[in-house]
Amino acid sequence: MDKAKKPWIDISVPIRDAMVHWPSDPPVSIRRVKDIEKGDTANLSVISMGVHSGTHVDAPIHFVKEGKGVENIPLDTVVGRARVIEIRDPESIKPEELVGHHIRGGERILFKTENSSHVWQKYEFVEDFVFISDAAADFLVDSGVRLIGIDYLSVGSFKHSGSYVHKTVNRQRKWATSGRRRSTSNETALRLAL
Ligand SMILES: [Zn+2]
Repeated sequence: MDKAKKPWIDISVPIRDAMVHWPSDPPVSIRRVKDIEKGDTANLSVISMGVHSGTHVDAPIHFVKEGKGVENIPLDTVVGRARVIEIRDPESIKPEELVGHHIRGGERILFKTENSSHVWQKYEFVEDFVFISDAAADFLVDSGVRLIGIDYLSVGSFKHSGSYVHKTVNRQRKWATSGRRRSTSNETALRLAL
C-alpha cells in the first residue's frame, strides 16, 4: 500500500464508565440522561472525569503554578512525525537506555514500555507501571524533544513521587502525553495527531 495512504490508527484509550484512573483523581462516569428508548426526543449523555484520565496531554499548569493551560499548546507539537521507542527496562525509563536511540532536538517521542501489554485491560490501578526516571526527564529536556508520550496514566512514578519529572518537563514548556493504548513495533516512525 502507498505509504501516504495508510489508514490512521487510533492509539488512544477508549473512555468508559468506571475505567481505571489515578487513585486520588475523580472517577470516570458516563451516564445517559436522555434516552429515545425511554420516550425522550434525543439521546444525551453526561461525562464527568478528571482531565488526567485515559489518553491526555499534561499542560504546564498541571505542576507549575503560573504555567500555561492546554489551550496554549502549539498545534505542531501534537501533529506531525513521531518516533516510537521501545523500552526494555521493566522498572523505568533511564538515560542509559535512551542514549543508543540518538534522540534529536524537536522530535516527538512516544515510549512503548511493558505497560502497553497489560495495564489497560485492568479496572484496578497498576502502581508499579514503567515511568520516566528523574534522570531521564533531565536527559529528554536536554535533548530538546518537543513531545514525550508514555503508555500509562503518568510520566512520573506513583511510588516514588512523579513531581520532579512533571515539573522538569512542564517548566521547559515541553508537553507530555500519557495513556496510549498500543503502538506497533520496536522503533517506528509514525504521524501523530492528538
Ligand atoms: Zn500528569
